[in-house]
Amino acid sequence: MIIAIDFDGTCVTHEFPRVGRDIGAAPVLKRLVAAGHKLILWTMRSDVEEPRSDHPDIHAVGGKYLTDAVEWFAKNEIPLWGINGNPEQHTWTHSPKAYAQLYIDDAALGCPLIYPTGEDRPYANWGAIEQLLEGRRILKRTGGVLSEANNGTLMGTAYTSPE
Ligand SMILES: [Mg+2]
Repeated sequence: MIIAIDFDGTCVTHEFPRVGRDIGAAPVLKRLVAAGHKLILWTMRSDVEEPRSDHPDIHAVGGKYLTDAVEWFAKNEIPLWGINGNPEQHTWTHSPKAYAQLYIDDAALGCPLIYPTGEDRPYANWGAIEQLLEGRRILKRTGGVLSEANNGTLMGTAYTSPE
């Protein structure tokens, strides 16, 4: 299966332009790759030389933001099949949307989230995501490396299982 993965708030906490903190994504992403799935990094990050924006919410400072995210995957030994694109879809579409059969994104409706106290933005709940992946048979049912190894408290936040 081709799976597109957002970065900020999904692989790590929201700390753009920096790379955020570990939130338990790596062990689940490794399981997906080991099970034969193809991962596409699907992020707004790009390497920017001369940003131009007057919008107050836009970080208009240049940097190697995409490279930082790609290096996070390399550092965690998680191979990427695509980076901000599906490397094979050019034969059948010119759409900029990367074709994937599953998208994991903290901004997606239904993505399990952790709402940390004292931080303003929630981030992906990988214990719950792992259970969803097992529930859909995308991963083999093991009880989850996260929930097993950490009893659902990897991030120090109470884990709420999906209904
Ligand atoms: Mg995000």
